[in-house]
Amino acid sequence: MEKTNDKIIIKDLCVFAKHGVFKEEKIMGQKFLVSVELEVNTRKAGVSDNIELSVNYADVCEVIEGFMKEYTFNLIEAAAENLALVLFANFEQLKGVKITIKKPWAPIGMDVDYVAVSIERRWHRAYIALGSNMGDKLLYLENAVGSIKNDVNCKILKISDIILTEPYGPVEQDDFLNGCIMIDTLYTPHELLRFLQKLENDANRKRDVHWGPRTLDLDILLYDDLVLCDDELVIPHPEMHKRAFVLEPLKQIAPDAVHPLLHQRIRDMVQ
Ligand code: ADP
Ligand code: MG
Repeated sequence: MEKTNDKIIIKDLCVFAKHGVFKEEKIMGQKFLVSVELEVNTRKAGVSDNIELSVNYADVCEVIEGFMKEYTFNLIEAAAENLALVLFANFEQLKGVKITIKKPWAPIGMDVDYVAVSIERRWHRAYIALGSNMGDKLLYLENAVGSIKNDVNCKILKISDIILTEPYGPVEQDDFLNGCIMIDTLYTPHELLRFLQKLENDANRKRDVHWGPRTLDLDILLYDDLVLCDDELVIPHPEMHKRAFVLEPLKQIAPDAVHPLLHQRIRDMVQ
């Protein structure tokens, strides 16, 4: 996803709210100072001098204050994490955010200026391959896409056509339906894998025969420009460049995406 170094900054917005582990903190409340650095491309607004093309910091302050007062979290870690979700949900143009929540009156019985938590969260561009060759295949794929769409941590940006593919490999099995989606996600790669595996399990997927028939298969093809390899996850997907049933749908929605290891565009990999 296109990166920008432009930032809109709000420093030390003071909100009286009720976050804390102790009962007194939840009843009496205390002062919190919230700072945010919003990663927003301000170029268009800057050139046109039109606020409609930017993120209005007054609106952001209102959302922050409303959020901080409406909820009660034990931890400022949780307040910050959930505030990030709320900001992404409210401000479409937001690409990333750094949030710092300071607690100047933290009841620790010692004299500190403040304690604080600071987090950075951003949208990551990912491509997911979809496959099914058992039961109501199209319905399994549609349900998966619906569940991804309904998750606050994901935005579906593009969906390829669904293609019919003949099975290959050692196991005799039914034809596949395959497709591909482009998403923006707040999940880390492993969180995304777990989320997709949950959707596979919800679709009654059994993992008895390796490479055997499946109701639903969701593979992470690409995640930003990330190259990753551990026991659970390999990104880019190690087989993607060899599989026409992955590359064809992917080419339809992202012909110019670049494979970070092969340094080739998807359109060139298809040949
Ligand atoms: P396949 O998709 O190769 O037919 P499975 O769906 O059964 O096989 O996946 C087997 C394992 O592959 C999963 O348990 C998962 O941990 C691992 N895996 C490694 N890299 C990826 C990836 N990029 N996307 C999805 N699963 C992956
Ligand atoms: Mg898989």
